[in-house]
Amino acid sequence: MAQFDLIILGPPGAGKGTQASGIVETYGVPHISTGDMLRDAVKNQTAMGLEAKKYMDKGELVPDEVVIGIVRDRLQQPDTSKGFLLDGFPRTIPQAEALDQMLAGIERNVGKVIAILVNDEALVKRLTGRRICRDCQAPVHVVFNPPKVEGICDKCGGELYQRDDDTEATVRNRLEVYRQQTEPLIEYYDKQSVIARIDGDQAPGAVLEDVKAAIGPVL
Ligand code: ADP
Ligand code: AMP
Repeated sequence: MAQFDLIILGPPGAGKGTQASGIVETYGVPHISTGDMLRDAVKNQTAMGLEAKKYMDKGELVPDEVVIGIVRDRLQQPDTSKGFLLDGFPRTIPQAEALDQMLAGIERNVGKVIAILVNDEALVKRLTGRRICRDCQAPVHVVFNPPKVEGICDKCGGELYQRDDDTEATVRNRLEVYRQQTEPLIEYYDKQSVIARIDGDQAPGAVLEDVKAAIGPVL
């Protein structure tokens, strides 16, 4: 049983990063965001980061073998022994199959997939108004969830910035990529009976309540 081997899935801007902080606080599992790890590699100008940036700037997916390698290494860290929250991975069927194999190798399996659903026009507004903390990666929104002090993260005091890929043209491409390559995962996980569909068009606190009800009580 792997009740806390969790995935948060949904289109860009659905609120995955926003919900992740409440989920990891409640269940005590690490937040594993492939987007955050890739942006870190870009910032550190590693060979992998420089290669990944070419795809990220266009709103395309980084090749499966690169992202699968990152997740394989991360899941070997001891803090994942009681569970994890994967955010932004898997994004393709081959990634989902690779994850199933990794988990099967340690006699675990995906426990729950939280699918956060939001309509496209709301997603464009959320993403173009999003700002991210340079230090802790927490997202805010200039209108929907503004920081107390403009430009400064409420959580850690870090500087807020706008992601290079949060421009309207790139956002529209990312939504298209999501529909074509990632949305089929909902059916993939439906077949494993692990999907919980959550209405993401609610205030963040209400979304979190629905998410917690879907995952179940803390052990
Ligand atoms: P994702 O990780 O799925 O791409 P984020 O959590 O970064 O999405 O959220 C995208 C943007 O939408 C952020 O600016 C965030 O502050 C805002 N946001 C998140 N959840 C909500 C919500 N329930 N209602 C309105 N805005 C939200
Ligand atoms: P995110 O922070 O999840 O919005 O991801 C930002 C960008 O990183 C995406 O648009 C992709 O270019 C890349 N990325 C993140 N996760 C993955 C993944 N699982 N597979 C391929 N590319 C990814």
